[in-house]
Amino acid sequence: MSRKNIIAANWKMNMAPSEAAAFLDPFLKAFPEPTPVEIVVAPSFVSLPKAAELLAGQSAVGLSAQNMSHEKSGAFTGETSAAMLVEVGCQYVILGHSERRSLYGEDDVVINRKVHATLAAGLVPILCIGESLEERDGGQLEFVLSQQLEGSLAGIDASQMPGIVIAYEPVWAIGTGRTATPEQAQETQAYVRSVIERLFGGAVAEAVRIQYGGSVKPGNAGELIAQPDIDGFLVGGASLDPASFGEIVKAGF
Ligand code: PEP
Repeated sequence: MSRKNIIAANWKMNMAPSEAAAFLDPFLKAFPEPTPVEIVVAPSFVSLPKAAELLAGQSAVGLSAQNMSHEKSGAFTGETSAAMLVEVGCQYVILGHSERRSLYGEDDVVINRKVHATLAAGLVPILCIGESLEERDGGQLEFVLSQQLEGSLAGIDASQMPGIVIAYEPVWAIGTGRTATPEQAQETQAYVRSVIERLFGGAVAEAVRIQYGGSVKPGNAGELIAQPDIDGFLVGGASLDPASFGEIVKAGF
């Protein structure tokens, strides 16, 4: 089965509305029509409305949030609901990014609630998993990844899985300039797919897209995307520049 590559820009806490506009203006000129790749940008919450305004009326680039609450509404100061994201024009939400896990204490239980809330609202979760260097060096890689998948996908039905994107991001490769080798990434992504097969069956495992994330740059995107189990990228640093992100997108054609 052929899976459409999905390449997403995680802008993190960068790009105020004016900067998001300064990125999207040339980027949309470079990609005015739908491409062979699903392109997604994930601005901060405050830049979502500006980005949605600029993305309206085109279908080459989708809009994602970087996080959301699993609660529907109410007394949750500082939080944002799935319905709010839908209203502002999002189609995707990044969930369980390693920075959310390590800096804000998110665990698989809360990420699982968010996955359910996202799907209930008709949004596509981009679910991040990944091991630390200590876990990899300590022989815990497979255990950690299978625990993260089982925990964050608890109660999800096989029929819902094709609507979920998995982002495998080794924590030691995020923002460090140290990329997994294509062989390391392929071996691990094949393992991730095998866990999905164990949990949901072979057809689902074939259909689910698994992104790689961790210091992807224009210079290494080609050899990574050539791996059979890499179905796109989640890009941090190199997604802040429209030309650099555009090069990475083109690697996925
Ligand atoms: C990320 O934060 O998802 C990421 C992969 O960042 P970077 O590309 O900067 O390593």
